[in-house]
Amino acid sequence: MLEDVGTREKREQMVEYQIQERGICDPLVLSAMLTVPRHLFVPDTLITHAYEDRPLPIGSGQTISQPYIVALMTALLAVHPGDSVLEIGTGSGYQAAILATMGVTVISIERKEEVLQIAERNLNRAGIRGVSLVRGDGTVGYPSHAPYKGIIVTAAAPKIPDSLVNQLDDGGRLVIPAGDRYIQELILVERRGDRIIQTMHGAVRFVPLIGEEGYLEEYDL
Ligand code: SAH
Repeated sequence: MLEDVGTREKREQMVEYQIQERGICDPLVLSAMLTVPRHLFVPDTLITHAYEDRPLPIGSGQTISQPYIVALMTALLAVHPGDSVLEIGTGSGYQAAILATMGVTVISIERKEEVLQIAERNLNRAGIRGVSLVRGDGTVGYPSHAPYKGIIVTAAAPKIPDSLVNQLDDGGRLVIPAGDRYIQELILVERRGDRIIQTMHGAVRFVPLIGEEGYLEEYDL
């Protein structure tokens, strides 16, 4: 039944079994995941699968991340209401919607125009405010609005782009999957004064980050 696809109950089950059970307990993150209607961020043909424990294709060879990975990356970012966050790789707009629901001001960069249009439609139909969408190559960041308290990269980078580290505020955090084309490590980079601290948070798999400080165009799917 189509009326049942996006109920609060579905989100409660998603949060309890996929997210809390795997150890994420940040109340701001959990509450955003309970609130944002994830089924409005997947293609209509996949709407009945929206709350499953996996990523889903969103067209143009791109994907909406698995709910747990969205929660994990958001928890690692550890941002607060009022902070400004830069997202690289808008995709469906779901990750941006989670951050905006937490009261964060989001700038989200996407390199593909057709994907950006889908994200814009999704954010509008979900009634999400506080996200500015930008078309461009996010590997070089978005210097005009830097520094950021948080930078989240939702595509796989061959290495951590220097430009992004340079655009982190003092106390700011960058969350980024870095590795090869098939498997990456989720890395948290923290800036504390002149110190840059890196920690690893498990293996993940993302579509490639394509651009000046990312993979070459030929890696596009
Ligand atoms: N955060 C998204 C998932 C992103 S999928 C969500 O919540 O649904 C990764 C996205 O990164 C794809 O849409 C891809 O086109 C985009 N991308 C890849 N390289 C990029 C770059 N250099 N700058 C901006 N976006 C990029």
